[in-house]
Amino acid sequence: MTSEPAFPHLDDAALAALAPETLAVAAGRPERGPDSPVNPEIVLSSTFVGLGGVGEGSRGYARFSNPTWEPFEDAVGKLEGSPLPALLFSSGMGAVAAAMSLVPVGGVLVAPRHSYSGTLGLAQLKAERGELTLLEVDIDDTEAAVAALDGADALWVESPTNPMMEVADLPALVAAARTAGVLVIVDNTFSTPLGQKPLGVGADVVVHSATKYLAGHSDVLLGVAVTASEQLRGRLHQHRTLHGAIAGPVEAWLGLRGLRTLALRVERSQATAGELARRLEAHPAVVRVRYPGLPSDPGHERAAAQLTGFGSIVSIELDGAEAADAFVSRVALWLPATSLGGVESTIERRRRHAAEPLTVPEGLVRLSVGIENVEDLWEDLRQSLESGL
Ligand SMILES: *Cc1c(COP(=O)(O)O)cnc(C)c1O
Repeated sequence: MTSEPAFPHLDDAALAALAPETLAVAAGRPERGPDSPVNPEIVLSSTFVGLGGVGEGSRGYARFSNPTWEPFEDAVGKLEGSPLPALLFSSGMGAVAAAMSLVPVGGVLVAPRHSYSGTLGLAQLKAERGELTLLEVDIDDTEAAVAALDGADALWVESPTNPMMEVADLPALVAAARTAGVLVIVDNTFSTPLGQKPLGVGADVVVHSATKYLAGHSDVLLGVAVTASEQLRGRLHQHRTLHGAIAGPVEAWLGLRGLRTLALRVERSQATAGELARRLEAHPAVVRVRYPGLPSDPGHERAAAQLTGFGSIVSIELDGAEAADAFVSRVALWLPATSLGGVESTIERRRRHAAEPLTVPEGLVRLSVGIENVEDLWEDLRQSLESGL
């Protein structure tokens, strides 16, 4: 009998110790063997053969688990620094809903006033139905947020917030929440695990709209929830199984495919965002720029201390809704569209959405910076700003 050639490979511990940009490329690969594929296969099956016992096939039905989810779940779990794989959902809101189900019935949820509108909408709906009490806070006001934790059951954090770009003092909030026995859930969509790892400072659950940076190409909707607690993961898994917000295998595969270039995309778009923020701040047609990378930004010091990057979202304020709408209507390279985190730059006036909080200025335009050339992006913004002067 000929012995098969050995293919050295990194075990889980060795993989988890890699730099994040390496991890995004190396994690979630099929086992190495002669002629093994380098990418996972897409398994299109709604059910799996098995008798249910150990070694007899226990996967069951594709709403419980699917082999195509697992490489992506494994990679995202490791990127967030969890010993457990992430749980994949059909959308960011699928993951948000599962995480929010951890708030006990009748419990108190503290959340940022400027949370993602879907998250806030879900929390408000639950509050209207008497399922929970919602306390909205300015999440960059640590003192107010900590005061709200008295008697609370869960704290929801987004940082930086959408679209106001407020930066939370995450370590201080988590420490106060732990002392008060309050569960902490962090929506890490804006920062990505390359910018901050909330589990590392003691948060209980991290959620992402993987539709955004993790998948990165505006071609799928996906969500993930990550926790280092077996017990919480069990509850999130149960929620996914019973509510059915499961990802399709093709979408899961695309998610992992997108994740491979996460570090390159974030590095480029972040550098470009910083440069555009500086130029926009110096432009006379721009009233205000919110970008934590600008030394003038109120969140700058905190962001510099807590984040390994300032992100790729820049919010600017123009002189009212009309000026902002006109500005957005004149760009030709930037895509006037909602959503963010794709390779293509998108731009929108946020208050055009009825669900946007009224504390977001009418003239606020959110820019999601993609990976295009910085001069091309600037020229498009500049011509639009200046044809309105
Ligand atoms: C888009 C988004 C969501 C919702 O994700 P979907 O994939 O659209 O369901 C949640 N949180 C943040 C911060 C987002 O930007």
